[in-house]
Amino acid sequence: MKLPAVTRRLCLKTMATASIAATVSACTASISRMRDYERPLSRKPFLAPRISADRVVREVVGLRPYRPSGFVVKAEKMHDKTVIHNYGHGGGGITLSWGSSALAVRETLGMEHRRAAVVGGGIMGLTTARLLQDAGWTVTIYTRNVARHSTSNIAGGQWAPTSVFEEGVATPAFEAQFKWAARIAHHAYTNLGGPDYGVRWIENYYLGLQPFEFSYYLRELPELFASVADLEPGEHPFPVPYVRRTVTMLIEPATFLRRVTEDYFQAGGNFVVRDFADRTDVLSLPEPVIFNCTGLGAAQLFGDTELTPVKGQLLFLPPDLDVDYLTVGGGEGLLYMFPRSDALVLGGTFGIGDGTTHADPAESRRILSGHEKLFADFRA
Ligand SMILES: Cc1cc2nc3c(=O)[nH]c(=O)nc-3n(C[C@H](O)[C@H](O)[C@H](O)COP(=O)(O)OP(=O)(O)OC[C@H]3O[C@@H](n4cnc5c(N)ncnc54)[C@H](O)[C@@H]3O)c2cc1C
Repeated sequence: MKLPAVTRRLCLKTMATASIAATVSACTASISRMRDYERPLSRKPFLAPRISADRVVREVVGLRPYRPSGFVVKAEKMHDKTVIHNYGHGGGGITLSWGSSALAVRETLGMEHRRAAVVGGGIMGLTTARLLQDAGWTVTIYTRNVARHSTSNIAGGQWAPTSVFEEGVATPAFEAQFKWAARIAHHAYTNLGGPDYGVRWIENYYLGLQPFEFSYYLRELPELFASVADLEPGEHPFPVPYVRRTVTMLIEPATFLRRVTEDYFQAGGNFVVRDFADRTDVLSLPEPVIFNCTGLGAAQLFGDTELTPVKGQLLFLPPDLDVDYLTVGGGEGLLYMFPRSDALVLGGTFGIGDGTTHADPAESRRILSGHEKLFADFRA
């Protein structure tokens, strides 16, 4: 087996200073500990992320804009304006952004106007604005918070259309719209791969203590995921009985939002920072067409009583750049580890109906100790 460069260097350095016989046996032990698991994307051995309390540099909380019946994309005539809604994407707004925004922009077909207001500067507002610009519109984004202060900038960034609606509550018409949006968004992100937009492919490992159900998106959209397999013990380093693997994209929200904002400026867009009090306030905008991309804000602005906050809490550790896979599950409650280049992100929580924005210390402890235990027992 080929040793990774770091291990090779360590062995050589030690050999120069200690007894050769003792070092050879230590290196042999380290060789036998590095297992050569078959991997679909990476050609390196698995390395466990370095996780400990003293490495936690930040705790963040975001509120997902969730609707059990699914997100809203529709046009409404209000006085002399057309309002096109694009909000309520729950835990999958980063994933669905380009697709849902394409649905929203499709609502303008046949219009003669070419001047729009986009209310909301998160991922839905930015992608809607960019698609409008590409179609020749002049766009102004009005927003209370620019992207880096939005929920979109809190997201973990896994490309997975999950936690967006409740099966059995959403209608078949919504599901068709959802799948269309997911396919378009997937296509758009694959066009933007690479560090410039913060989009890369990565192996995902779902770790179960119980057998898995096939999640909706793997069942209904299998063509969007590569190398899907259930792994046998011995085919992976994770200390759990059930492991499902997929290969999909990881989007780094901070990089992505910054880059799309640059594109928006380059295409002539501008921002107005403004906090709207209610629908009348929104309808006072001068533009004839108004896109409502306000996420949870749509509850207050447009009286959507189905919109529910779903609290998500994450821990940020300094990035661990040698970790080249992400994990979901593997312990008590919701756990996930995303090795982004700006941070090693540990999640998470999914507090339905919880609109509080403080980090819960008990949840932070659970997330940390769950991951410490998972990777302490890792079989690299
Ligand atoms: C912890 C966590 C992890 C997540 N992980 C993922 C993931 O891995 N993958 C994924 O796809 N999704 C993930 N999500 C979900 C994703 O973040 C959301 O679905 C997405 O950010 C919603 O985008 P948005 O643009 O609709 O809303 P927001 O980002 O909230 O943007 C709404 C905008 O509207 C503005 N606004 C609201 N009200 C008003 C008002 N009254 N006046 C003026 N402006 C207003 C806000 O200032 C903001 O700019 C996660 C979310 C959380 C919290």
